[in-house]
Amino acid sequence: MTPAAPNNAELLARSHSAVWHPCSQMKHYETFPLLPIARGKGVWLYDYDGDRYLDAVSSWWVNLFGHSNPAINAALVSQLETLEHVMLAGFTHEPVVRLSERLRELAPPGLGHCSYASDGASAIEIALKMSAHFWRNTGHPHKTQFISLQNSYHGETLGALSVTDVALFRDAYSALIRSQATVMSPDSRHAAAGETAEDYALRCAEVLESHLQHHHAQLAAFIIEPLVQGAAGMAMYHPVYLRRARELCRQYAVHLIADEIAVGMGRTGTLFACEQAGITPDFLCLSKGITGGYLPLSVVMTTDEIYQAFYTDETTRGFLHSHSYTGNPLACRAALATLDIFAQDDVLSQNRQKAAYLNSIAQPLREHRAVKNWRNTGMIWAFEVDSPHHDFAQRCFSLALQNELLLRPIANTVYFMPPYVIGEPEMDHLVQRTLHLVEQLCQQPQSKT
Ligand SMILES: *Cc1c(COP(=O)(O)O)cnc(C)c1O
Repeated sequence: MTPAAPNNAELLARSHSAVWHPCSQMKHYETFPLLPIARGKGVWLYDYDGDRYLDAVSSWWVNLFGHSNPAINAALVSQLETLEHVMLAGFTHEPVVRLSERLRELAPPGLGHCSYASDGASAIEIALKMSAHFWRNTGHPHKTQFISLQNSYHGETLGALSVTDVALFRDAYSALIRSQATVMSPDSRHAAAGETAEDYALRCAEVLESHLQHHHAQLAAFIIEPLVQGAAGMAMYHPVYLRRARELCRQYAVHLIADEIAVGMGRTGTLFACEQAGITPDFLCLSKGITGGYLPLSVVMTTDEIYQAFYTDETTRGFLHSHSYTGNPLACRAALATLDIFAQDDVLSQNRQKAAYLNSIAQPLREHRAVKNWRNTGMIWAFEVDSPHHDFAQRCFSLALQNELLLRPIANTVYFMPPYVIGEPEMDHLVQRTLHLVEQLCQQPQSKT
């Protein structure tokens, strides 16, 4: 006997009782119910009642080429019939070898060694541990501290949280975290009146320089989200900051860790954001879009210099870190299929045309009286909305759903981070419905009479 097909109401009730959802106060789902998704196709998600939603946030910034992408599906089916998984300690397999070789060809020069984990936060743990262990192996055991930017986000495991500067995620766990310093963010929204984004970035680099001068002897690494600080509310900054950070870190013998978990894989207009500053970091962390949004996988790429510091006969000088699913073949195969799409479809230049189209139709939105700080880098757009509502983010999310849109504002910052397969009619839908939403959300609440 087949059970009856579930509907929205039934599934959300069952989920509320059995599933503890991430990044949520479960009680709030009493007022703002969960949305059960039955299937996805391209930029659209469909619920069990047949309603559709344009996935304008790429399902938490992971999806690149649409839901249920035929090419990635086919690659996964063929991999399923070959090898679903094998441990990577003592064993190897073709998908992980090919992926590592291709990433080495594509990444900024010098990043020839790939180590794998299953999610973004674990990649950050690897980079932090590897950096400190490098200094230990090379006779600098005091270099164990890290710095990050103000409002940085690098994940929520305890190590990653120590370099994450988002009070909401940190405060409850602060007793468990080793506290690390932050330096002024080059977020161009904070430039002084009349100061260019570039001048502001250079001013922030001076603050970094002074911090490095004073603390380099204890510092292992400076970790940064290149070009866009995502969870800070899509804070964008000038690439000159990355160039200066690269020079200064080299000068003071501090590693530079580029966290491209959100901004890598073409999101900022180049395959990797670091390319726009012409730099090679000591560590490059990738996850999210690397599998096209299909399966959990992350990778930390690093240099020969770092690799060689671990390459000896002693086990304890080796890098001691593993996850059960390290380098999972299915996930690697999804990543290879994703890289194939980049190569075959000239994605980066197509994205430039799409971005130009979206910017052209967005004129009425960016000029709306309630819209502030309109900004765009590659396939990311963001703006703040001047709204009288304290619960702006939740209200906007709910209203967006009624308008066939999946938007997830960060405080009063609305952003678009759509899958790259978005077409012109879908961009029209996104921009027109968002304009309608903004209009509703900037109205004074009706006084109750
Ligand atoms: C999402 C994200 C992470 C954490 O990745 P998870 O897979 O969620 O653990 C780390 N850094 C940045 C910049 C991110 O956007």
